[in-house]
Amino acid sequence: MDIAAFIRHVPDYPKPGILFYDITPLLASPEAFGEVIGRMADAARPLRPTRVVAAEARGFLFAAPLAQRLGVGLAPVRKPGKLPCAAFEVSYDLEYGSNTLCLHKDALAPADRVLIVDDVLATGGTVDAMIRLVGRSGATVAGCCMLMELDALGGRTVLGDIPLSVLLHV
Ligand code: 5GP
Repeated sequence: MDIAAFIRHVPDYPKPGILFYDITPLLASPEAFGEVIGRMADAARPLRPTRVVAAEARGFLFAAPLAQRLGVGLAPVRKPGKLPCAAFEVSYDLEYGSNTLCLHKDALAPADRVLIVDDVLATGGTVDAMIRLVGRSGATVAGCCMLMELDALGGRTVLGDIPLSVLLHV
């Protein structure tokens, strides 16, 4: 199946000059979405993850069915003020301003092998923040699984030696 056919290219969103890759056609197709989750699960199994970590909001869409398919728990990463219990916080710079992401302090154990999941790897800022949150928990990042990588932005350099699985390169 040609997964790329289910990604809509939206010029000038959210700002002029940005080409946005819209995943809503993929979500609208149970066949294509099922194919994506199956391929992600096949790529992730050899990494033997014990937990999946993903950030709101689009990351959750892929991480929840994937974690269930892998038979492991999901730990959600959220913006400040959204998690009810004590949380680690990390911040990262954006082009204009900064973002903060949070993870419950008791979400991971030091023995956990974590699979980080997201829809798009762009500059790498989001995945870098998730790697730092996992590190604060004392757990290990076993690998990352992304639907799509925007190759020209070079985000994968933040991963160092961490294995990365990508279904689509644009
Ligand atoms: P980064 O932090 O690597 O620069 O950006 C990745 C994050 O931004 C991901 O969580 C992703 O959801 C979002 N993102 C950036 N560009 C796009 C895009 O073109 N399409 C989609 N669906 N998400 C994007």
